[in-house]
Amino acid sequence: MRKIGGVSPPHNKNTEFSKVQVLPTPAAVTIPMKMHSGKPAVPVVAVGDEVKVGQLIGEVGGPVSSPVHASVSGRVKSINDRDAVTGQKSVSITITSDGKQTLFEGLKAPTVTNLQEFYDAVRDSGAVGLGGAGYPAAPKLAIKNLDQLDYILINGAECEPYVTADTRTMVADAKNVCGGVKLLLDYMKPRKGIIICIEDNKPEAIQIMRDTFADEPKVEIRALPTLYPQGERKVLVYNVTQRIVPEGARLADVGVIVTNVTTIAVFSRYIETGFPLVNKVITVDGPSVKTPKNVLAPIGTPLRELFDFCGGFTDEVEGEVSSDAPTAGGGAADAPPADRTPKKIIVGGPMMGVAQPGLDVPVVKTTNSVLAFPEKDVIPPKVTACIKCGRCLGVCPMSLMPPNIENAFALKKLDSLAHYKVNMCVECGSCAFVCPAKRPLVQTMQLSKDLLWLRKQEQRAADAAKAAEAEAKAKAAEAEAKAAEAKAAEAKATQAPEPNDKAAETKAAKEAKQSE
Ligand code: SF4
Ligand code: SF4
Repeated sequence: MRKIGGVSPPHNKNTEFSKVQVLPTPAAVTIPMKMHSGKPAVPVVAVGDEVKVGQLIGEVGGPVSSPVHASVSGRVKSINDRDAVTGQKSVSITITSDGKQTLFEGLKAPTVTNLQEFYDAVRDSGAVGLGGAGYPAAPKLAIKNLDQLDYILINGAECEPYVTADTRTMVADAKNVCGGVKLLLDYMKPRKGIIICIEDNKPEAIQIMRDTFADEPKVEIRALPTLYPQGERKVLVYNVTQRIVPEGARLADVGVIVTNVTTIAVFSRYIETGFPLVNKVITVDGPSVKTPKNVLAPIGTPLRELFDFCGGFTDEVEGEVSSDAPTAGGGAADAPPADRTPKKIIVGGPMMGVAQPGLDVPVVKTTNSVLAFPEKDVIPPKVTACIKCGRCLGVCPMSLMPPNIENAFALKKLDSLAHYKVNMCVECGSCAFVCPAKRPLVQTMQLSKDLLWLRKQEQRAADAAKAAEAEAKAKAAEAEAKAAEAKAAEAKATQAPEPNDKAAETKAAKEAKQSE
């Protein structure tokens, strides 16, 4: 078996054993309609409407989409474009909480007796890929070649440093994980079974899963070496099944589906109780956080409230002065309270997460962690020339050649970028992590993929223009031919004798014949 690359960043799983604490209901939540891949949800409430917890506020916007439900009870304050943690703006519904958290009276468990009802229930639960990808769970499971499905891999690897939200789900919500696995076995019937994949640095979760599925022969718990990016879906498929997903292919093409462990717990709970995805366990951590915790928070909660719940930020924020610090004159500080906002806030893990512009952006369905870092941890490194050490090649899980891609990108050689298969890059950051020259390799990969994507769009546009031109030409030729035909018919009609004359002529000829 080929060894796949990867790196071992410091785990920093500070919240590994932190029980989930429930965040007090925020004063307001802002819930984006686009928290998933595909089409955004479409608002079905209006400003001023009263809503309750679990009530539908955004319906699916297309086949690849996900419904959105109210996470607090209260009144709809606004519906407008707002910044989202993804870095893009999204139509968002802001609800002012009434503090009561009244459940929507329409919540009831759906009837699920066949595969289609199962897919419908998964969609209605609001479940999306909660490992971070955000692909709606229902279309992901509804593969065309279900009869060729061998494995369903339940992704509990959680290989990013700091993040422990999925681990806590496996430990504290084993009942719903178990329910999700049983639903997948009953309705999707993978030929070889289900494998729950967990890195071996989570012994408690591994043991609980082993105990939970001890009597289920079709379920295996696989402890995997702790190696980033173990949880990346193509890496996971290879490491667990030794199947390679070719460029441009889907996992289902090699007989595998990968789904996140919290995702299955979400749709299992919905099928059991009718309660959709409205809250999320989030790891709040990072060197700037006073008391790191795992927090159960309503979707739409501003990041600020999560950090406040964890004691706020430490005083050791570089470049900023604590309001408690003595002044130069030795007296009490009369300066305005210092802003202890850390230098960098990341939603997601430190390897693949997205930096945030501020603390007012809300958490979304896919938020599994929010991290805060002081300046000393985020000083941009000095970039130097590639020394051709080859370390990046050794760790790339996709066996890519980052220096060659860098060169091709610098020279804008698009064919070379395609040749070096830059589109296979999963943007895991392992290459940049080991690079002694601190080359911005991930950004280069992203920009290179953008270039190929643009070229593809241009090619498509050119092909479409060509096809439209050919169609227009064909139509013009057809019209010309019809006109010519009509002209010929007209000419024929003017040359031919009048029908009455012809009939008279025929009659006269007949009479002449009879008289003979
Ligand atoms: S080239 Fe892409 S897939 Fe390979 S290590 Fe770098 S970021 Fe990861
Ligand atoms: S790790 Fe950095 S310095 Fe070494 S070959 Fe790769 S890009 Fe060059």
